Amino acid sequence: MSQALVVLSGGQDSTTCLYWALHRFGVGQVEAVTFDYGQRHRIELDCAARIATHASVPQTVLPIDTFAALGGNALTDAGITVQADMDTQTRLPNTFVPGRNLIFLTFAAALAYQRGMCALVTGVAQTDYSGYPDCRQATIQALEQALRLGMEYALTIHTPLMFKSKADTVQMARDLGALPALADTHTCYNGVQPPCGRCPACRLRAQGFAEAGIADPLVERFRNP
Ligand code: ZN
Repeated sequence: MSQALVVLSGGQDSTTCLYWALHRFGVGQVEAVTFDYGQRHRIELDCAARIATHASVPQTVLPIDTFAALGGNALTDAGITVQADMDTQTRLPNTFVPGRNLIFLTFAAALAYQRGMCALVTGVAQTDYSGYPDCRQATIQALEQALRLGMEYALTIHTPLMFKSKADTVQMARDLGALPALADTHTCYNGVQPPCGRCPACRLRAQGFAEAGIADPLVERFRNP
């Protein structure tokens, strides 16, 4: 029986967390869960599957189509373009999907419960440039408490990236041997490969690698195919 369940989106942070979990809990002790929430960029799901295979970790894909039905954000609604600027009223970017992490972690907890796993691992970070409120330490701690009470289960939510900068995360990925897997990750909000290099997500990623002094394996893959 595995010990830890990693929420794997196919992005840089969750992939780093997958390798963190393998290091912390051991090979053969880790599984991944990926959510198909109607994201416009289906490439994320392909990336997550490749990364799980690369890491030899069993992956479960769970469908959640409610966010697409709700609409109103640039990640699931094809009629909305990603804006680099914050919404003046909410002070959040229009890539914010309200409730997303809360729902994801609740379903992940249900899966962990069924499989007898007591550790959930998620790549949320308080330092995330967007300041998504569902990525903050206080939110995660409150949710962990709610899940423990609501399921009567000694579940722990691990957030190894919570207070790390993007550069710290890149260095951590290198130290964990996760760089080859990062070549298969997807970050670009425009859903293209090679990444567009201009959207907020691409710029943040590039800045992290630059500050860490490490070449991005994803960019290198397209430079030297
Ligand atoms: Zn981009």
